[in-house]
Amino acid sequence: MYYFDHSATTPLHPDVVELMHNIQKYKFGNPSSTHKKGREAKLIIENSRNQIAHAIGVSSKNIIFTSGGTESNNQVLWSMLGNKKSHILSNYIEHPAVLNVLQYLKNYGIDHDLVSVDNNGLISIQELKSKIKKDTALISVMLANNEIGTIQPVEEIVKIAHGKGILVHSDAVQCLGKMHINVDKIGADFFSLSAHKFYGPKGVGILYFKNRKLLSSFIIGGSQEKNLRAGTEDTASIAGMGLAAEIAVKNLSQKVKTLVKIEKEFLNRLKAIYPKFIINGHKERKLPGVLSVSFPDFRSDFLMAKLDRENIYVSNGAACGSGDIKPSKILKALSLKDEINISTLRFSFGVTNTIDEIQYLINVLNKILNQR
Ligand code: PLP
Repeated sequence: MYYFDHSATTPLHPDVVELMHNIQKYKFGNPSSTHKKGREAKLIIENSRNQIAHAIGVSSKNIIFTSGGTESNNQVLWSMLGNKKSHILSNYIEHPAVLNVLQYLKNYGIDHDLVSVDNNGLISIQELKSKIKKDTALISVMLANNEIGTIQPVEEIVKIAHGKGILVHSDAVQCLGKMHINVDKIGADFFSLSAHKFYGPKGVGILYFKNRKLLSSFIIGGSQEKNLRAGTEDTASIAGMGLAAEIAVKNLSQKVKTLVKIEKEFLNRLKAIYPKFIINGHKERKLPGVLSVSFPDFRSDFLMAKLDRENIYVSNGAACGSGDIKPSKILKALSLKDEINISTLRFSFGVTNTIDEIQYLINVLNKILNQR
Protein backbone atom coordinates (compact mmCIF):
# COMPACT_ATOMS: atom_id res chain seq x y z
CA MET A 1 0.00 0.00 0.00
CA TYR A 2 1.21 3.49 -0.91
CA TYR A 3 -0.73 5.98 1.19
CA PHE A 4 -0.35 9.65 0.27
CA ASP A 5 -3.67 10.93 1.60
CA HIS A 6 -2.78 12.02 5.14
CA SER A 7 -4.87 15.19 4.88
CA ALA A 8 -7.96 12.99 4.49
CA THR A 9 -6.99 10.93 7.49
CA THR A 10 -3.90 9.37 9.06
CA PRO A 11 -3.33 5.80 10.16
CA LEU A 12 -3.30 5.32 13.95
CA HIS A 13 0.11 5.52 15.60
CA PRO A 14 0.93 1.99 16.91
CA ASP A 15 1.34 3.29 20.50
CA VAL A 16 -2.10 4.89 20.24
CA VAL A 17 -3.63 1.58 19.09
CA GLU A 18 -2.09 -0.24 22.03
CA LEU A 19 -3.15 2.36 24.58
CA MET A 20 -6.71 2.47 23.26
CA HIS A 21 -6.96 -1.31 23.23
CA ASN A 22 -5.90 -1.51 26.87
CA ILE A 23 -8.29 1.22 27.93
CA GLN A 24 -11.21 -0.39 26.07
CA LYS A 25 -10.44 -3.66 27.77
CA TYR A 26 -9.63 -2.63 31.33
CA LYS A 27 -10.70 0.99 31.96
CA PHE A 28 -14.34 0.73 31.03
CA GLY A 29 -15.75 2.76 33.94
CA ASN A 30 -18.04 5.70 33.26
CA PRO A 31 -15.93 8.83 33.93
CA SER A 32 -18.93 10.39 35.69
CA SER A 33 -19.19 7.52 38.20
CA THR A 34 -17.77 8.43 41.57
CA HIS A 35 -16.47 4.93 42.40
CA LYS A 36 -12.93 3.77 41.72
CA LYS A 37 -13.63 2.47 38.20
CA GLY A 38 -15.18 5.81 37.25
CA ARG A 39 -12.41 7.85 38.88
CA GLU A 40 -9.84 5.81 37.00
CA ALA A 41 -11.50 6.72 33.65
CA LYS A 42 -11.86 10.36 34.68
CA LEU A 43 -8.13 10.50 35.45
CA ILE A 44 -7.33 9.19 31.97
CA ILE A 45 -9.49 11.90 30.42
CA GLU A 46 -7.88 14.66 32.45
CA ASN A 47 -4.44 13.35 31.57
CA SER A 48 -5.36 13.60 27.89
CA ARG A 49 -6.64 17.15 28.41
CA ASN A 50 -3.27 18.09 29.89
CA GLN A 51 -1.37 16.46 27.03
CA ILE A 52 -3.39 18.40 24.47
CA ALA A 53 -3.19 21.68 26.38
CA HIS A 54 0.58 21.28 26.47
CA ALA A 55 0.74 20.44 22.76
CA ILE A 56 -1.07 23.63 21.71
CA GLY A 57 0.08 26.02 24.44
CA VAL A 58 -3.12 26.65 26.40
CA SER A 59 -4.53 25.86 29.82
CA SER A 60 -6.34 22.52 30.08
CA LYS A 61 -9.27 24.39 31.70
CA ASN A 62 -10.05 25.87 28.30
CA ILE A 63 -10.45 22.64 26.33
CA ILE A 64 -13.45 20.39 25.79
CA PHE A 65 -13.65 17.14 23.88
CA THR A 66 -16.01 16.83 20.93
CA SER A 67 -16.66 14.27 18.20
CA GLY A 68 -14.22 15.96 15.83
CA GLY A 69 -13.51 19.02 13.71
CA THR A 70 -17.03 19.21 12.33
CA GLU A 71 -18.64 19.35 15.75
CA SER A 72 -16.08 21.81 17.14
CA ASN A 73 -16.68 24.20 14.22
CA ASN A 74 -20.46 23.78 14.55
CA GLN A 75 -20.42 24.51 18.26
CA VAL A 76 -18.57 27.79 17.81
CA LEU A 77 -20.77 28.98 14.96
CA TRP A 78 -24.06 27.94 16.58
CA SER A 79 -22.94 29.65 19.80
CA MET A 80 -23.19 32.95 17.95
CA LEU A 81 -26.98 32.64 18.32
CA GLY A 82 -26.35 33.70 21.91
CA ASN A 83 -24.32 36.76 20.86
CA LYS A 84 -25.89 40.23 20.74
CA LYS A 85 -24.36 40.76 17.30
CA SER A 86 -25.55 38.67 14.37
CA HIS A 87 -22.97 38.80 11.58
CA ILE A 88 -20.10 36.39 10.86
CA LEU A 89 -17.20 36.95 8.49
CA SER A 90 -15.44 34.03 6.87
CA ASN A 91 -13.89 33.25 3.47
CA TYR A 92 -14.43 31.17 0.34
CA ILE A 93 -11.98 28.36 1.09
CA GLU A 94 -13.17 27.18 4.50
CA HIS A 95 -14.20 23.56 5.05
CA PRO A 96 -17.91 22.71 4.54
CA ALA A 97 -18.08 22.30 8.34
CA VAL A 98 -17.90 26.10 8.41
CA LEU A 99 -19.39 27.20 5.07
CA ASN A 100 -22.47 24.97 5.15
CA VAL A 101 -23.17 25.88 8.77
CA LEU A 102 -23.03 29.59 7.90
CA GLN A 103 -25.54 28.97 5.13
CA TYR A 104 -27.83 27.18 7.59
CA LEU A 105 -27.50 29.88 10.24
CA LYS A 106 -29.17 32.36 7.88
CA ASN A 107 -32.46 30.63 8.75
CA TYR A 108 -31.88 31.67 12.36
CA GLY A 109 -31.07 35.34 11.72
CA ILE A 110 -27.27 35.07 11.56
CA ASP A 111 -25.96 36.68 8.41
CA HIS A 112 -22.48 36.23 6.94
CA ASP A 113 -20.08 37.55 4.33
CA LEU A 114 -17.21 35.73 2.69
CA VAL A 115 -13.82 37.26 1.91
CA SER A 116 -11.88 36.39 -1.28
CA VAL A 117 -8.49 34.74 -1.41
CA ASP A 118 -5.72 35.51 -3.91
CA ASN A 119 -4.26 33.08 -6.48
CA ASN A 120 -2.20 31.47 -3.73
CA GLY A 121 -5.16 30.99 -1.43
CA LEU A 122 -4.18 33.77 0.97
CA ILE A 123 -7.08 35.72 2.44
CA SER A 124 -7.34 39.36 1.40
CA ILE A 125 -6.80 41.38 4.59
CA GLN A 126 -7.94 44.57 2.88
CA GLU A 127 -11.24 42.99 1.84
CA LEU A 128 -11.63 41.46 5.29
CA LYS A 129 -11.30 44.89 6.88
CA SER A 130 -13.78 46.39 4.43
CA LYS A 131 -16.37 43.68 5.14
CA ILE A 132 -16.34 44.10 8.91
CA LYS A 133 -19.67 45.48 10.10
CA LYS A 134 -20.79 47.04 13.37
CA ASP A 135 -22.76 43.85 13.83
CA THR A 136 -19.85 41.44 13.21
CA ALA A 137 -19.64 39.01 16.13
CA LEU A 138 -17.07 36.55 14.79
CA ILE A 139 -14.42 36.04 12.13
CA SER A 140 -13.80 32.39 11.24
CA VAL A 141 -10.57 31.72 9.33
CA MET A 142 -8.83 28.36 9.12
CA LEU A 143 -5.18 28.14 10.13
CA ALA A 144 -4.28 26.11 7.04
CA ASN A 145 -6.29 24.87 4.10
CA ASN A 146 -7.01 21.17 3.63
CA GLU A 147 -6.66 21.13 -0.16
CA ILE A 148 -3.71 23.42 -0.86
CA GLY A 149 -2.04 23.72 2.56
CA THR A 150 -1.86 27.54 2.48
CA ILE A 151 -1.38 28.97 5.98
CA GLN A 152 -3.53 32.01 6.77
CA PRO A 153 -2.31 35.02 8.79
CA VAL A 154 -4.62 34.25 11.72
CA GLU A 155 -2.48 36.15 14.24
CA GLU A 156 -2.80 39.32 12.16
CA ILE A 157 -6.55 38.76 11.76
CA VAL A 158 -6.92 38.36 15.54
CA LYS A 159 -5.25 41.74 16.07
CA ILE A 160 -7.60 43.43 13.61
CA ALA A 161 -10.67 41.68 15.04
CA HIS A 162 -9.89 42.26 18.70
CA GLY A 163 -9.30 45.94 17.96
CA LYS A 164 -12.97 46.05 16.99
CA GLY A 165 -14.32 43.78 19.72
CA ILE A 166 -14.81 40.84 17.33
CA LEU A 167 -14.17 37.21 18.28
CA VAL A 168 -11.99 34.91 16.15
CA HIS A 169 -12.38 31.20 15.48
CA SER A 170 -9.74 29.18 13.68
CA ASP A 171 -10.23 25.70 12.23
CA ALA A 172 -6.75 24.20 12.69
CA VAL A 173 -7.80 20.63 11.92
CA GLN A 174 -5.02 20.12 9.35
CA CYS A 175 -2.20 21.60 11.40
CA LEU A 176 -1.15 19.67 14.50
CA GLY A 177 2.11 17.80 13.89
CA LYS A 178 2.83 19.80 10.74
CA MET A 179 3.53 23.24 12.21
CA HIS A 180 4.27 24.74 15.61
CA ILE A 181 1.02 25.83 17.27
CA ASN A 182 0.71 28.18 20.22
CA VAL A 183 -2.93 29.13 20.52
CA ASP A 184 -2.25 31.63 23.31
CA LYS A 185 0.21 33.44 21.04
CA ILE A 186 -2.13 33.34 18.05
CA GLY A 187 -4.77 34.82 20.35
CA ALA A 188 -7.81 33.12 18.77
CA ASP A 189 -10.93 32.87 20.93
CA PHE A 190 -11.91 29.46 19.58
CA PHE A 191 -9.81 26.75 17.98
CA SER A 192 -10.82 23.39 16.45
CA LEU A 193 -8.73 20.23 16.13
CA SER A 194 -9.46 16.64 15.11
CA ALA A 195 -7.52 13.57 16.27
CA HIS A 196 -7.69 11.57 13.06
CA LYS A 197 -5.53 14.13 11.26
CA PHE A 198 -2.60 13.57 13.64
CA TYR A 199 -2.42 9.77 13.90
CA GLY A 200 -5.18 9.58 16.50
CA PRO A 201 -8.62 7.96 16.29
CA LYS A 202 -11.60 9.14 14.25
CA GLY A 203 -14.69 10.59 15.89
CA VAL A 204 -12.93 12.65 18.54
CA GLY A 205 -11.77 16.25 18.52
CA ILE A 206 -10.97 19.31 20.57
CA LEU A 207 -12.55 22.67 21.02
CA TYR A 208 -10.51 25.38 22.70
CA PHE A 209 -12.34 28.43 24.04
CA LYS A 210 -10.89 31.49 25.71
CA ASN A 211 -14.03 32.55 27.54
CA ARG A 212 -16.50 29.90 28.63
CA LYS A 213 -19.36 32.43 28.72
CA LEU A 214 -19.15 32.95 24.95
CA LEU A 215 -19.70 29.27 24.16
CA SER A 216 -23.02 27.40 24.36
CA SER A 217 -23.65 23.71 24.67
CA PHE A 218 -24.47 22.21 21.29
CA ILE A 219 -25.25 18.71 22.52
CA ILE A 220 -27.62 18.87 25.45
CA GLY A 221 -27.92 16.28 28.19
CA GLY A 222 -25.71 15.56 31.20
CA SER A 223 -23.17 17.90 32.72
CA GLN A 224 -20.05 16.42 31.13
CA GLU A 225 -17.30 18.70 29.83
CA LYS A 226 -18.12 21.67 32.07
CA ASN A 227 -21.74 21.54 30.88
CA LEU A 228 -20.54 22.36 27.38
CA ARG A 229 -20.81 18.94 25.72
CA ALA A 230 -23.15 16.34 27.08
CA GLY A 231 -22.71 12.59 26.64
CA THR A 232 -20.55 9.92 28.26
CA GLU A 233 -16.99 10.50 27.14
CA ASP A 234 -15.22 7.95 24.94
CA THR A 235 -12.32 7.38 27.32
CA ALA A 236 -10.24 5.28 24.93
CA SER A 237 -10.53 7.70 22.01
CA ILE A 238 -9.84 10.72 24.21
CA ALA A 239 -6.77 9.00 25.66
CA GLY A 240 -5.64 8.01 22.17
CA MET A 241 -6.00 11.61 21.04
CA GLY A 242 -3.96 12.86 24.03
CA LEU A 243 -1.12 10.49 23.29
CA ALA A 244 -1.29 11.25 19.56
CA ALA A 245 -1.04 14.99 20.33
CA GLU A 246 1.97 14.42 22.58
CA ILE A 247 3.68 12.36 19.86
CA ALA A 248 2.72 14.88 17.14
CA VAL A 249 4.64 17.73 18.78
CA LYS A 250 7.63 15.63 19.84
CA ASN A 251 10.63 16.30 17.53
CA LEU A 252 8.35 18.48 15.43
CA SER A 253 11.19 20.25 13.58
CA GLN A 254 12.53 16.86 12.52
CA LYS A 255 9.09 15.79 11.32
CA VAL A 256 8.70 19.00 9.33
CA LYS A 257 12.14 18.45 7.78
CA THR A 258 11.17 14.90 6.77
CA LEU A 259 7.93 16.10 5.14
CA VAL A 260 9.73 18.93 3.31
CA LYS A 261 12.34 16.47 2.04
CA ILE A 262 9.71 14.01 0.78
CA GLU A 263 7.84 16.84 -0.93
CA LYS A 264 11.01 18.17 -2.61
CA GLU A 265 12.07 14.72 -3.80
CA PHE A 266 8.63 14.14 -5.25
CA LEU A 267 8.62 17.46 -7.10
CA ASN A 268 12.17 17.03 -8.45
CA ARG A 269 11.40 13.57 -9.74
CA LEU A 270 8.04 14.67 -11.14
CA LYS A 271 9.76 17.50 -13.03
CA ALA A 272 11.94 14.93 -14.75
CA ILE A 273 9.00 12.89 -16.06
CA TYR A 274 6.26 15.51 -16.51
CA PRO A 275 7.49 19.12 -16.50
CA LYS A 276 4.03 20.45 -17.41
CA PHE A 277 2.65 20.08 -13.87
CA ILE A 278 1.33 23.11 -11.96
CA ILE A 279 1.44 23.55 -8.17
CA ASN A 280 -1.48 25.35 -6.56
CA GLY A 281 -1.42 27.31 -3.31
CA HIS A 282 1.27 29.36 -1.63
CA LYS A 283 4.82 28.13 -2.22
CA GLU A 284 6.20 29.18 1.19
CA ARG A 285 3.31 29.84 3.59
CA LYS A 286 2.16 26.25 3.47
CA LEU A 287 1.89 23.04 5.44
CA PRO A 288 4.80 20.70 4.74
CA GLY A 289 3.89 17.57 2.83
CA VAL A 290 0.62 18.86 1.35
CA LEU A 291 0.75 19.41 -2.41
CA SER A 292 -2.01 20.34 -4.83
CA VAL A 293 -0.69 19.42 -8.27
CA SER A 294 -2.47 19.93 -11.61
CA PHE A 295 -1.76 17.64 -14.54
CA PRO A 296 -3.00 19.50 -17.63
CA ASP A 297 -4.64 17.14 -20.18
CA PHE A 298 -5.57 14.51 -17.57
CA ARG A 299 -8.79 14.36 -15.57
CA SER A 300 -8.20 13.80 -11.88
CA ASP A 301 -10.79 11.00 -11.60
CA PHE A 302 -8.97 9.13 -14.39
CA LEU A 303 -5.61 9.61 -12.64
CA MET A 304 -7.01 8.55 -9.28
CA ALA A 305 -8.53 5.38 -10.73
CA LYS A 306 -5.25 4.46 -12.42
CA LEU A 307 -3.27 5.09 -9.23
CA ASP A 308 -5.80 3.17 -7.15
CA ARG A 309 -5.22 0.11 -9.35
CA GLU A 310 -1.56 0.26 -8.35
CA ASN A 311 -2.46 0.58 -4.64
CA ILE A 312 -1.57 4.27 -4.55
CA TYR A 313 -3.98 6.43 -2.58
CA VAL A 314 -4.29 10.18 -3.17
CA SER A 315 -7.26 12.50 -3.48
CA ASN A 316 -8.81 15.23 -5.57
CA GLY A 317 -10.91 18.17 -4.47
CA ALA A 318 -13.28 17.80 -7.37
CA ALA A 319 -16.62 16.15 -6.69
CA CYS A 320 -17.43 13.21 -8.96
CA GLY A 321 -20.84 11.76 -9.61
CA SER A 322 -22.31 9.61 -12.41
CA GLY A 323 -19.27 10.07 -14.62
CA ASP A 324 -19.42 13.82 -14.23
CA ILE A 325 -16.78 15.85 -12.45
CA LYS A 326 -17.37 19.16 -10.70
CA PRO A 327 -14.43 21.53 -10.15
CA SER A 328 -13.16 21.99 -6.60
CA LYS A 329 -14.68 25.08 -4.97
CA ILE A 330 -11.40 25.83 -3.25
CA LEU A 331 -9.38 25.83 -6.47
CA LYS A 332 -12.14 27.87 -8.12
CA ALA A 333 -11.72 30.48 -5.38
CA LEU A 334 -8.03 30.64 -6.39
CA SER A 335 -9.26 31.55 -9.92
CA LEU A 336 -7.95 28.32 -11.40
CA LYS A 337 -9.48 27.58 -14.81
CA ASP A 338 -12.02 24.73 -14.71
CA GLU A 339 -10.04 22.51 -17.10
CA ILE A 340 -6.97 22.75 -14.83
CA ASN A 341 -9.12 22.49 -11.71
CA ILE A 342 -10.52 19.10 -12.72
CA SER A 343 -6.97 17.91 -13.52
CA THR A 344 -5.75 18.33 -9.97
CA LEU A 345 -4.64 15.80 -7.39
CA ARG A 346 -3.77 16.35 -3.75
CA PHE A 347 -0.76 14.46 -2.46
CA SER A 348 -0.51 14.63 1.32
CA PHE A 349 2.54 12.86 2.63
CA GLY A 350 3.06 11.51 6.12
CA VAL A 351 6.10 11.12 8.34
CA THR A 352 6.26 7.38 7.70
CA ASN A 353 6.40 7.73 3.89
CA THR A 354 9.79 6.83 2.41
CA ILE A 355 11.76 7.94 -0.63
CA ASP A 356 11.34 4.42 -2.06
CA GLU A 357 7.56 4.89 -1.89
CA ILE A 358 7.94 8.23 -3.66
CA GLN A 359 9.95 6.56 -6.41
CA TYR A 360 7.21 3.94 -6.84
CA LEU A 361 4.66 6.75 -7.17
CA ILE A 362 6.85 8.44 -9.78
CA ASN A 363 7.28 5.20 -11.74
CA VAL A 364 3.51 4.67 -11.86
CA LEU A 365 2.84 8.31 -12.75
CA ASN A 366 5.42 8.05 -15.52
CA LYS A 367 3.57 5.07 -16.95
CA ILE A 368 0.22 6.88 -16.79
CA LEU A 369 1.30 10.33 -17.93
CA ASN A 370 3.64 9.31 -20.71
CA GLN A 371 1.87 6.34 -22.25
CA ARG A 372 -0.11 8.28 -24.84
N1 PLP B 1 -11.91 21.16 8.94
C1 PLP B 1 -10.93 20.82 8.08
C2 PLP B 1 -9.98 21.85 7.59
C3 PLP B 1 -10.81 19.49 7.67
O1 PLP B 1 -9.84 19.15 6.83
C4 PLP B 1 -11.73 18.53 8.18
C5 PLP B 1 -11.67 17.12 7.74
O2 PLP B 1 -11.38 16.81 6.61
C6 PLP B 1 -12.71 18.96 9.07
C7 PLP B 1 -12.77 20.29 9.44
C8 PLP B 1 -13.70 17.99 9.66
O3 PLP B 1 -13.10 17.27 10.69
P1 PLP B 1 -13.74 15.88 11.19
O4 PLP B 1 -13.47 14.88 10.11
O5 PLP B 1 -13.00 15.56 12.44
O6 PLP B 1 -15.18 16.12 11.43
